[in-house]
Parts: sequence; structure tokens; C-alpha cells
Amino acid sequence: MDNVYVDKKHCCGCGVCAQICPVHAIKMVEDEEGFKYPKINPEICTDCGRCRKKCSASSEIKKVDSKFYAVRCKDEELLKKSTSGGAFSLIAKEVINEGGIICGAVFDENFKVKHILSEDISKMRKSKYVQSDIEDCFEKIENELSKGRKVLFSGTPCQCHSLKMLIGENENLITVSLICRGVHSPLLWEEYKNWLKGEDEIKSYDFRDKRRRNDAHTVAYTIGDKETAVTMNEDPLSRIYNKCLSYRPSCYECSYCSADNDFDFTIGDFWGIEKFKPEMYDGNGVSLVITHSEYAEKIIEKVKDEAIVYECSKEQAEQTALKEPAKESILRKLLFKDLVGSKNGEKIQLILKKYGQ
Ligand SMILES: Cc1cc2nc3c(=O)[nH]c(=O)nc-3n(C[C@H](O)[C@H](O)[C@H](O)COP(=O)(O)OP(=O)(O)OC[C@H]3O[C@@H](n4cnc5c(N)ncnc54)[C@H](O)[C@@H]3O)c2cc1C
Repeated sequence: MDNVYVDKKHCCGCGVCAQICPVHAIKMVEDEEGFKYPKINPEICTDCGRCRKKCSASSEIKKVDSKFYAVRCKDEELLKKSTSGGAFSLIAKEVINEGGIICGAVFDENFKVKHILSEDISKMRKSKYVQSDIEDCFEKIENELSKGRKVLFSGTPCQCHSLKMLIGENENLITVSLICRGVHSPLLWEEYKNWLKGEDEIKSYDFRDKRRRNDAHTVAYTIGDKETAVTMNEDPLSRIYNKCLSYRPSCYECSYCSADNDFDFTIGDFWGIEKFKPEMYDGNGVSLVITHSEYAEKIIEKVKDEAIVYECSKEQAEQTALKEPAKESILRKLLFKDLVGSKNGEKIQLILKKYGQ
């Protein structure tokens, strides 16, 4: 077999194919844009076809009935540490109380974004708008499930679907999908960090800081001893993200832009809550929580002591990312043409100036 995917746009880079290949003929390799794709070693491949059968692109996610909630945790400290209304932490805590373990995205020591498994969710909080590397987490999840342990996986919808394709029916697997517009290229992020830090060290980076009570539309970072906080509108990297110029090719063909995907939960920002539930809104974030399973409904009941929960209609919860994928413009092609081959952040200033204004 030459390739797992027919078109690059069908590959979300989850790595399931590499994990299940019985002869280890597949490796995940970064392309020139910095996104990982499977590469098959033809000398080892036996053409068994398992990789294609288990690929999430080979089957659409089922659509199910859903319920819609606005959720805001009552603990103000937890709220500040969360991107939206703290729904992820509230749900994860219940699963941990049931003896489960959580898989979510963190910054590693070099601020690379990757998934880990842990009972400590503190580093998983906060959205990192870069494609997260699953590394060997799916294998570890299989291992935990085989011991009869509950596992909550939180990630982009493509990652959640891939994991469900790998595992099949298993009542101990709980999937929490983010509403997702797209993910930045890891190469763009790497080069941006190189440029930003110069000879210094990145001490912290927050894509969605809450100090201005502006729905977390502030980017805040500390380089060496210098702290910077700017609105997303003033931040060229956020502008590139908001113009959808730096996403993985599959994001522009995303088939998960729906409120009714067959996960346990879909969570995101509750944009517009101030219009019909103003008492829940103070600029510090409210979560949109969509439940798709009985288990998720039970969790919603349980979190009611620790959160303000308001059931709403599908119409009230609507947002673009639940309806259609991001549109790819010609500027995306040009941005990556400029980025390819960049080392030590050398091309970033040009890219920020050209595309981040
Ligand atoms: C790339 C991306 C795009 C998004 N786009 C939208 C959108 O268009 N509309 C919308 O309403 N919401 C979007 N969100 C979701 C939103 O930003 C919050 O992450 C979500 O509401 C959870 O907030 P919280 O307060 O419950 O959780 P938090 O405590 O802030 O938890 C964040 C959760 O996101 C996961 N996560 C963080 N970064 C990544 C990553 N790179 N890949 C996979 N998982 C990650 C963590 O594992 C954790 O579970 C997006 C998130 C990401 C990461």
C-alpha cells in the first residue's frame, strides 16, 4: 500500500493507523507544513488493509439527539484557570471520583502541545490552539480500559472520533469533544516560539487569559522576566488563527461541525449568553455543554452543586463552528509557502507582518 489516506485533506494525523499496524510499517512523519502524516514503509507493509479500515475518515460519526446547557462553575479561582466556564474540570473531577483517569492536552517543558494521561488535570486546562500530538496516548488508553478503568478523553472532535474507531463500544470510555474551528500548524508555533523568546526562556503562555474580563480574548505570556498581555485583536498570531490561515488541511473539510455528534459531551464557549441569561455573564466565561449520552446527563446532574447550570435550546447554543468548517483562502497557501524551511524563527517576523495585520 502507498498511503493510508487518498487525499491529505482526509487525514487528521491521529496516528491510529501507525498504532494498529501489525507489522509496524507505519510511522507518523511531519510534512513541510509541520503536520504529521502516516508514512508507510513498502518493504514491511503486507497490504492487510487494517490501517484504512480503522481510519476515522473511512466512516462518518453517528448523529444522536443532544441536550444543551450553559454551565459556569461557582469556584471563581477554577473559573479563572479555565478557558470558558470550567466545564472540562467539573466533568473530569466526577470521572476521577469514579476511579478514572483523564487524557488531555498540555504544554510540555518546551511548550510543545501534546496529550498526556493523568489524574492531575491542572496542566490540561486552557485551550492551546495548536495541533496536539497524541504520541502513545491511545495505546495507554487501551491499556487502562483493559484493566476495567474509566478513561475520559478530551480533545478535538477528529481525535475523539479516531479514538472511538480504535476502541469500539466501551462504556468506560468517555469522550469530551471540543467545539473546534481548527488547529495551528505545530511548525508555525515552534517558529513563533523561537522568535518570541530570542535568547531568553518562555516561562508561561496563555492563549486565553482572563485578566481583562473580555471573554478571555487576551493573550498573555512571560518571556524571561517580561510579562506581556495583549488583546487577541492586537496579537498577530491570534489574528492569523482567527483568519483561518494556519490550520491543518483536514480542518477545512471537517465533518464534525455539528451539535449532534455521537460523543458523550461537546464543550465550548457559550457565545451570546449575555443576551438571554445576563445573570450568568460577567466576561469571565461560560461553557456551552452539549450532552449526547445518558452518562453525560448523569454528570450534569452531579455538577449542579458546583456550577450554575441552565438548560437552553439548540438555537440559543448555535455558533458557526457547529455548522460549517472554516473556509480556506489563497492566503493560507501563501503563508505556508513563506513558512516552509524556516529555522530559528527567521521567517516569523515577515509572516506576522504579512498575514497577522
Ligand atoms: C483548537 C481549539 C479550537 C477551539 N475552537 C472553538 C470554537 O470555535 N468555538 C468554541 O465555542 N470553543 C472552541 N474551543 C473550545 C474552548 O476554547 C474551550 O477549550 C472549551 O470551552 C473548554 O473550556 P473549559 O473552561 O471547559 O475547559 P479548560 O479547563 O480550559 O480545558 C481545556 C480543554 O481543552 C483541551 N485542549 C486544550 N488544547 C487542546 C488542543 N490543542 N487539542 C486538543 N485538546 C485541547 C484540554 O485537554 C482540556 O480538556 C476550541 C478549543 C481548541 C483547543
